[in-house]
Amino acid sequence: MRAVRLMEWKSDPVLVEVDDPVPGPGQVVVRIGGAGACHSDLHLMREFEAGLVPWNPPFTLGHENAGWVHALGADVSGVELGQPVAVYGPWGCGACPRCLLGMENYCEDVAHAPVPGGGGGLGMDGGMADLMLVPSPRLLVPLPDGLDPVDAAPLTDAGLTPYHAVRRSWPKLVPGSVAVVIGVGGLGHLAVQILKATTAARVVAVDTRAEPLALAANEGADLTVEPDASAVAVIRETTGGRGADVVLDFVGSESTIALGAAVSRFLGDVTVVGIAGGTFPFNFFALPYEVSLQTTYWGSRPELVELLELAARGLVRPTVTTFPLEEAVHAYHLMEAGSALGRQVIVPSARG
Ligand code: NAD
Ligand code: ZN
Ligand code: ZN
Repeated sequence: MRAVRLMEWKSDPVLVEVDDPVPGPGQVVVRIGGAGACHSDLHLMREFEAGLVPWNPPFTLGHENAGWVHALGADVSGVELGQPVAVYGPWGCGACPRCLLGMENYCEDVAHAPVPGGGGGLGMDGGMADLMLVPSPRLLVPLPDGLDPVDAAPLTDAGLTPYHAVRRSWPKLVPGSVAVVIGVGGLGHLAVQILKATTAARVVAVDTRAEPLALAANEGADLTVEPDASAVAVIRETTGGRGADVVLDFVGSESTIALGAAVSRFLGDVTVVGIAGGTFPFNFFALPYEVSLQTTYWGSRPELVELLELAARGLVRPTVTTFPLEEAVHAYHLMEAGSALGRQVIVPSARG
């Protein structure tokens, strides 16, 4: 089969022929119908180096995947051949207290995970290939009727990550509240939709580019702002001077974290999701009182079930551009050049 593989750190991935995966006992092979190109893969192929994470290339990229069950190993139950499924991306040990709650993103026994702190496309072979080996049916979520793998794939990360970040702040997103989304890319455009679908907050979208801001406005953002010198004043004004109850930063650079902090409100949340590596100088006076500053990583399996349900009902709808497997590297280059809108999804197979 064909696979888009990262062969070494600090290199472009390459499309190569590899053997089809064969499912061992308890394992499942999925035929991939959609594999999202995440900005984290750009960080992976440009900035990561040996020693940063407990795994190394070579491996097949693609950590947001959906498709159809293609082959079952011995002793697999609960899934059927041909069934459309989403692949839950963070692979934990499956047995620690966090994993038992479905929060494999925060597994506390990573020594017993398939790969410590990773998953398919992150240290192990992912979904930018015709077929993908999944270690357990526990990591598959059946697609509800009306949702196809091309739309479901980005929901497993570009959707699930902001869904988790929004959901944990739900108590603060009451009528009258304001949420700020910084970076309206793959994750951010879904954050705008998720905020609109699940809360009463007014939504302010921030991006350096006009196209994502137009997309955000189209998806219901109440105000769109460029992160220029007037951004803090403009955002504060729209909150009646009080500040934003929740800031979701999908960039995570020095300047975006500073912007998030500067527009936050007493008792608010500033959640940094993007991994651009910015820092924040913290002291008693650095933030309004009782603002919580946190990072989040991915989301839980129950949250993925909820999000797929929202999408099947049409309340969340990824903006997707599709590419054949041969153009996966081109898709990453477009994202790197700042020419991607919404999520770019690689489609190895159109049917199961
Ligand atoms: P993307 O490239 O699709 O979107 C990024 C958006 O940010 C683009 O629209 C870009 O124009 C905009 N942007 C860039 N600089 C900006 C600035 N200074 N101010 C405002 N907007 C700016 O990326 P993505 O796939 O949505 O990923 C976003 C970030 O989240 C990446 O750093 C990625 O690695 C990270 N990520 C984190 C998690 C997690 O679990 N924490 C999961 C997935 C992705
Ligand atoms: Zn990702
Ligand atoms: Zn675990």
